Amino acid sequence: MRHIAIVGSGPAGYYTAEAAVKKWGEEARIDVIDRLPVPYGLIRTGVAPDHQSIKAVSRRYEKTATGETVRFVGNVDIGTDISIAELGSLYDAVILATGAPKDRTLAIEGADTANVFGSAAFVGWYNGHPDFAALAPDLSGSHAVVIGMGNVALDVARILAKTEEEFAGSDIVAHALDALRDSRIEHITILGRRGPHQIMMTPKELGELLHLERAAPEVDAADLPPEGDDAILEPGLRKSVTLVREFAALPETARSEKPITITFDFFASPRAIVSDDGRISAIEVERTKVELGRAVGTGETYRMPADLLVSCIGYQTSAIEGVPFDQRAGRFANDGGRILPGLYCVGWAKRGPSGTIGTNRPDGYAVIDLVDEDIGPGARKRGREAFDELIAERGLDVVTFRDWRKIEEAEIAAAREGAPREKFVDIESMIAARGA
Ligand SMILES: Cc1cc2nc3c(=O)[nH]c(=O)nc-3n(C[C@H](O)[C@H](O)[C@H](O)COP(=O)(O)OP(=O)(O)OC[C@H]3O[C@@H](n4cnc5c(N)ncnc54)[C@H](O)[C@@H]3O)c2cc1C
Repeated sequence: MRHIAIVGSGPAGYYTAEAAVKKWGEEARIDVIDRLPVPYGLIRTGVAPDHQSIKAVSRRYEKTATGETVRFVGNVDIGTDISIAELGSLYDAVILATGAPKDRTLAIEGADTANVFGSAAFVGWYNGHPDFAALAPDLSGSHAVVIGMGNVALDVARILAKTEEEFAGSDIVAHALDALRDSRIEHITILGRRGPHQIMMTPKELGELLHLERAAPEVDAADLPPEGDDAILEPGLRKSVTLVREFAALPETARSEKPITITFDFFASPRAIVSDDGRISAIEVERTKVELGRAVGTGETYRMPADLLVSCIGYQTSAIEGVPFDQRAGRFANDGGRILPGLYCVGWAKRGPSGTIGTNRPDGYAVIDLVDEDIGPGARKRGREAFDELIAERGLDVVTFRDWRKIEEAEIAAAREGAPREKFVDIESMIAARGA
């Protein structure tokens, strides 16, 4: 029998569990441990609430989660409640699938000013992550600036632009819907250091900006490279750049009919945040040019009004005591998934924050191949039996998959009309919803 602990119940954790079941069948016991009482990581707390079809992938993880072989152990923080060394003594392999939950720091003057947020916090707020539910961003100003040229920046801009009706069928949490209903934002600027050829936005997400009820995109045609240069781009990026060209060609009337404009400001590097009474009022930006794919400052600066700023510039893994960490890359130090004997990582904790949900699947299968190679039939460790003893000894209140089902049922029952669920946004309510 092999005893495997997977830390983290996001896509990487569940694809790894799926791979373990496929590889070993009944010859393994797999515990998927999460610090939250609810599973699925960024499927629940990252993926945009108005993209429900993407969130439906969790149904696949549910199949893995409901057998005898795999169990969910929620509400246990590894590194705080139980150490890596303790886990390592109980399981043949410990696989860290803890993602990259921390914002990369916006290293400019004034980054700690009020109403300036990283995307982990801001997205966590509208998605009901218990760590960020109390964020309370002030949406009473007219200018929002979103830094970044990836899909997360697009998610944030779109959420800020949508009407209440456009959130029908989404699971945006009530506190965010209430705040957005009263929002006074009219100008959303997406700021990127490089140009249209360097965006990391996918066509589907970009295309959505053409169909918003009260917002339309704006691009300065002067920022576009010659059309013939698009031929060298890979097909996905070429499609995205074609959409950016479409935005630039929109007639002014397309925007004048809509109260909100989403402006793409390319070749623009944030330099400093300007505050008024401790709250952001503007951002100072330096014009750049791209040389050999890199943004280089030109020395020309300008100021842009900003009442709210969300920086979507990437994420880092949270360090865990006893696990070697690559500070520069912001993830666990690893060699293709191996960290130390018996200790592995997978998903964003291994690769850093890039790729789609599906990218984590081959990662999960690959790490199980490594574990299989390294541990053979297992070393007669005690696995979940000993883990349960430790849990009881520490008095930890574990949430099982059956408990999660009860929490989920309560969320579905509380949904406003047309919505799939109303999420609990704090740990106490989640635990309470599980019942006796
Ligand atoms: C804002 C945003 C939107 C996205 N939208 C899309 C999209 O539309 N489509 C798409 O394909 N991809 C999208 N992605 C990417 C996708 O979410 C990731 O590829 C995927 O979630 C990474 O999986 P993971 O399992 O490595 O990490 P995560 O999903 O972050 O899961 C990590 C899990 O580990 C748990 N954990 C962390 N630390 C500990 C600890 N110490 N002890 C116990 N548990 C711990 C966390 O609670 C969490 O459940 C988006 C990402 C973001 C940030």
